[in-house]
Amino acid sequence: MIDNHDIIAAPATATGGAISVVRVSGEGSVECCDRIFRGRMRLADSAPGTVRHGCIVDGDRVVDDALVSVFRAPHSYTGEDSVEISVHGSRYIVSEVLRLLLGCGARMASPGEFTIRAYLAGKMDLSQAEAVADMIASDSKAAHALASTQMNGGYSASLQALRTQLLDASSLLELELDFSEEDVEFADRRELTSMIERLLDKVRGLVGSFSTGNAIKEGVAVAIVGRPNVGKSTLLNRLVGDERAITSDVAGTTRDTVEACCDIDGVRFRFIDTAGLRATDDEIERMGIERTRKAVADANIIISMSEGEDSRERVDVSDDQMLVEVVNKADLLPDDARDGDDGTLYISAKSGEGVDELIYRIRSAVDTRMVYAGETVVSNARHCDALLRSATALERSLDALRCGLSNELLSEELREVLNALGEITGEVTSDDILQNIFSKFCIGK
Ligand code: GDP
Repeated sequence: MIDNHDIIAAPATATGGAISVVRVSGEGSVECCDRIFRGRMRLADSAPGTVRHGCIVDGDRVVDDALVSVFRAPHSYTGEDSVEISVHGSRYIVSEVLRLLLGCGARMASPGEFTIRAYLAGKMDLSQAEAVADMIASDSKAAHALASTQMNGGYSASLQALRTQLLDASSLLELELDFSEEDVEFADRRELTSMIERLLDKVRGLVGSFSTGNAIKEGVAVAIVGRPNVGKSTLLNRLVGDERAITSDVAGTTRDTVEACCDIDGVRFRFIDTAGLRATDDEIERMGIERTRKAVADANIIISMSEGEDSRERVDVSDDQMLVEVVNKADLLPDDARDGDDGTLYISAKSGEGVDELIYRIRSAVDTRMVYAGETVVSNARHCDALLRSATALERSLDALRCGLSNELLSEELREVLNALGEITGEVTSDDILQNIFSKFCIGK
């Protein structure tokens, strides 16, 4: 359904820059562009991989000066003949170029269609194609490193060898099924068990990396909670260095959650200043409090802020959340009131005292060593789901081996593992899965 090579075109850059690029790909795309290009030489006569200077024309009218790159199949992003037209970054010029291309037989590309073609041409596996979107969206050093490893085939590298071994073992088991009356054993059960255990180890490790990977990709969510007026907004402003949240000494000023981001040592953090947790009759404030609860439930890190014992709120955290207890307005406290070895941090959001230590603790909660070492860290929920399914099937196949269950059952479990792992890189896929993944891309990717 989506495997065709007609000519597609789309802007590849956002408007507002000095230059815009229009991408064209498909059989006949170079000839199509020649119909709107005027230069010293026809694009079709140019060597592959060259850039030609000329004009984009509508009949006799010159639309703009252009630099046009010509790529020939299979040496292009999509694996097809492709052209990239660079013009001045005007919305009008880009729409004119597209209008002219559509008049010459091209059609508008759908979201992610260039990358779908690259995937279908075998230029990249599915997880690499997804990493293209992550790479474009990456806004920190760590998110970039994560996408980079995946784009360079991290999954294939970490799973392919084990998957191939499993495939071999599975074929031997299938063979045994064919000879079931003769009671033969082609697949060594001890070897098979140890291989499944190794694979399970690997898969569990990858699943375990998801919470870190996902937090790095989406921005680590830090909810600042506490009663009204303890200084949450003041802290947020200090952390992000920007007057994002309104501060005042009237309790209940922050009626909704306010979010602001900043980069701490290569990791993007999303700080969420929440509405004070106090009982209220005010409907709008109550909605804010509901959002607070959701922000707290979704946060990776929770800063529970108080002005001391009396104003401390009880905050329930789950196993995978980190809680930092903070007493604010330390500047108003006598020195001997700051004792306590329960890990509580005394800060002054107003003067900045103790805030560096708070930043250090928050940053230390995110372990980026694996990411920077180029190891595969899972950041995509679809991959995590497939890995969880394969882990469950691996556990069941170990049980089947231990209990000496039938070969049919064992074979079925191993097939399930192979399918689930194959979904990640796209060896096993369907048009529905592809449509679903690529529809989230933007046009021109
Ligand atoms: P929120 O309701 O928790 O967001 O509290 P705000 O950030 O709006 O702060 C409430 C009041 O406390 C404001 O007048 C702030 O200036 C003041 N405040 C915040 N942090 C400190 C601090 O560290 N020391 C002192 N003395 N006052 C603070």
